[in-house]
Amino acid sequence: MPLTTEIPETWRAPAARMAERLRGLDRVLVAAHVNPDGDALGSMSAVGWMLRALGRECVLYSPSGVPGYLSFLPLPRTLLTSLERLPFEPQGLVLLDCGEPQRLGEELASALHGCFAGLPGINIDHHLGSDGMGTSGNWIEPAAAATAQLVAYVCLAAGLRPEGPLGEALALGLVTDTGGFAHGSTTAAVFRLAALLGEHGCDIPGLREKLDSNWSPARMALWARLMQRVELACDGRAALCLARLDDLRRCGALKEDLEGLVEQFRRLRGVEASALLREDAPGVCKLSLRSTGDTDVRSVAVQFGGGGHRNAAGGTLRMEGQDALDAVRAALCRLLRGRERG
Ligand code: 5GP
Ligand code: MN
Repeated sequence: MPLTTEIPETWRAPAARMAERLRGLDRVLVAAHVNPDGDALGSMSAVGWMLRALGRECVLYSPSGVPGYLSFLPLPRTLLTSLERLPFEPQGLVLLDCGEPQRLGEELASALHGCFAGLPGINIDHHLGSDGMGTSGNWIEPAAAATAQLVAYVCLAAGLRPEGPLGEALALGLVTDTGGFAHGSTTAAVFRLAALLGEHGCDIPGLREKLDSNWSPARMALWARLMQRVELACDGRAALCLARLDDLRRCGALKEDLEGLVEQFRRLRGVEASALLREDAPGVCKLSLRSTGDTDVRSVAVQFGGGGHRNAAGGTLRMEGQDALDAVRAALCRLLRGRERG
């Protein structure tokens, strides 16, 4: 059976179109949102492996580098953190899992209007409200569980087998953005794709092991410390926590050690929305929001200049930690009070 039959019918046409656009590119710069998560890095790596298989040159770019907990992922080539010493002058761009230029980081966002202006570019993303940055093609599909899901369909449409490091990169995006096949976005199509990756040799339980069983003692200490400080608000319907710079320092932990913590707060019975504020510098806090069901935390993130998805959203607040916590608490309570208890 041809690989294309594995693509959900409604997505065959856009997948084929993107595969064709991808084939038309060479000397490609591949990028995703800053501070890449599993979906951003997995999608970038997968596109890199695809370009390699098609005999194209490419470079992966992410100004914040590869987070330590994802360093096990084989990349098609070294990921560059600066645009200053590229191995070639890019002639095409692939932008992934990113709905707006600012989220690519300042250097690339300004290059899009400068030295890269006019380059053919494609944008594959699943963020609602994504502004379609691709100059020669956009595939924005908010119903997709992960950008890597869409990239996988482009791979199949291009006639490439999703195996080896390409399959692992796709699985990484799928596993992480669905919270291990647990979020509401985990449709039958996601399971079918996971099965296909498995059939092509991907060891998904082994991948989960690499992701889940590599904690440092510092990370364990940080989570223990912050879990004791979770506060409930809005009659127990919201859970919030502020991680100060001092908390990280005292535990010897890194920012990336907070990845996944906000999801834990949702485990509390009765909690419909959870928030983690991470103090990045005095007066600057990164917000992470999670929710269940119809509770739309993206609407809260948007109030603070951020964005994301209904059940997972975030942004950056230029406020002192305590002020940011108060503002987010008030916004979450407004959201929840406007709704029946879920
Ligand atoms: P996280 O909490 O894991 O950092 O982010 C969850 C989701 O929120 C991400 O997948 C992304 O869609 C969105 N998000 C996080 N931070 C920002 C931000 O600063 N701006 C926008 N537009 N979206 C964000
Ligand atoms: Mn994503």
